[in-house]
Amino acid sequence: MKAHDGMYIGGAWRPATGADTIAVVNPVDEQVIAHVPAGTAEDVDAAVAAARAALPGWAATPPAERGAVIGALRDALAARKDEIAETVTAELGSPLPFSQMVHAAVPIAVAGGYAELAASYAFQEKIGNSTVLLEPVGVVGAITPWNYPLHQIVAKVAPALAAGCTVVLKPAEDTPLVAQLFAEAAHEAGVPAGVFNLVTGLGPVAGQALAEHEGVDLVSFTGSTAVGKQIGATAGAAVKPVALELGGKSANVILPSADLAKAVNVGVANVMSNSGQTCSAWTRMLVHADQYDEAVELAAAAAAKYGERIGPVVNAKQQARVRGYIEKGVAEGARVVVGGPETPHDQGYFIAPTVFADVRPEMTVAQEEIFGPVLSILKYADEDEALAIANGTVYGLAGAVWAGDEAEAVAFARRMDTGQVDINGGRFNPQAPFGGYKQSGVGRELGPHGLGEYLQTKSLQF
Ligand code: NAD
Repeated sequence: MKAHDGMYIGGAWRPATGADTIAVVNPVDEQVIAHVPAGTAEDVDAAVAAARAALPGWAATPPAERGAVIGALRDALAARKDEIAETVTAELGSPLPFSQMVHAAVPIAVAGGYAELAASYAFQEKIGNSTVLLEPVGVVGAITPWNYPLHQIVAKVAPALAAGCTVVLKPAEDTPLVAQLFAEAAHEAGVPAGVFNLVTGLGPVAGQALAEHEGVDLVSFTGSTAVGKQIGATAGAAVKPVALELGGKSANVILPSADLAKAVNVGVANVMSNSGQTCSAWTRMLVHADQYDEAVELAAAAAAKYGERIGPVVNAKQQARVRGYIEKGVAEGARVVVGGPETPHDQGYFIAPTVFADVRPEMTVAQEEIFGPVLSILKYADEDEALAIANGTVYGLAGAVWAGDEAEAVAFARRMDTGQVDINGGRFNPQAPFGGYKQSGVGRELGPHGLGEYLQTKSLQF
């Protein structure tokens, strides 16, 4: 697999300041496929300086022109869609069709959306005798995880560029190759030198240096709640805005009037997709006591079918972590109906698709984010109990409600403490605001709400 041995800073690939590298491993066969440089604080300094120098020119570029550059970036990504899909498959282990349909296609759509939005967004508004200007926040430090590696990059970089900000990106250490491909596409698209910069490296080194950098005006972070809390504290101490997209433990609430088979089957597919490494996955299925046994049977049959189709999780650490959670579920008295902690293959970081029944709300598998193909099915006696269980974690990122009548589902969704709810299997909308309540985060990504995160307001009185 092709890899750059430098950092993309100030419009060119520059040698890294240190000699350390990060090995990129294919999770399917555990083979090293490439090495990328492990960035240092000096690399981050150089990238922030380049972003700072480029800021006045880019911020003053008319929004429609910024939109045209983002449109060219979209086209450059589209021209590389096969290479993107193959790269994500190689470094994340995701099956190729899923890489094509999701990991490559969604970021192209999101970039296209921001190309249009940059041109049409109202960067100015009138309120009484005031004109309110929406101005770019400045230099953005973007830190991204590996689970949807290109999507998370584009969900930060495209709106930041649309807003007139410049960016330094520190992508996840497990998936740096698709980030390098993104930098190539940005270069080819004519993103001006310094407007987008890439520093690969380890979280506690390059990531932390970026999060703490005085020259960064806003940190936009997607990742674990533990690291997010640390980044939020650093930003708070420096009185800087921060956007945090963190973990989730979302509930899939199946009300008694729902089409049970459909709700269960879609719910299982939602959890197993991307090998369970989706922050918004509906990892807790809530079923009425009268339908519980039938739902468990349906879920077991649906999950068993995933056995051969599912990819591995991203690395050995994640595999050990997920197996540990499955063992803990068993130890706390949940019943494994499919799967279990044994690894299904001798090689690769695979986890058997696993379904737990008889899960109680206080169990670890019902409270903590597992980030693997593990579903917990819980029983409720009435709607109030379903709501208490649904809202009964520290998280609030996503969720689903199924009912025979849409209005009934919406009434329940209104009472959920969570950032997005899919009603009767509603489709993902890449323009809708995405983000969390409670410890799932601060701020929103995607669409006009995502663009707004990169703007600050100035009022002129007349
Ligand atoms: P992580 O927090 O370990 O890493 C995320 C990023 O932060 C990586 O680039 C990493 O290098 C960097 N990082 C690590 N330590 C750092 C530090 N001390 N300072 C600065 N940067 C640091 O998370 P992960 O394991 O890569 O990703 C999985 C987590 O991300 C899950 O909890 C998942 O729910 C969450 N996630 C949330 C969303 C969302 O939109 N809410 C989306 C995807 C993933």
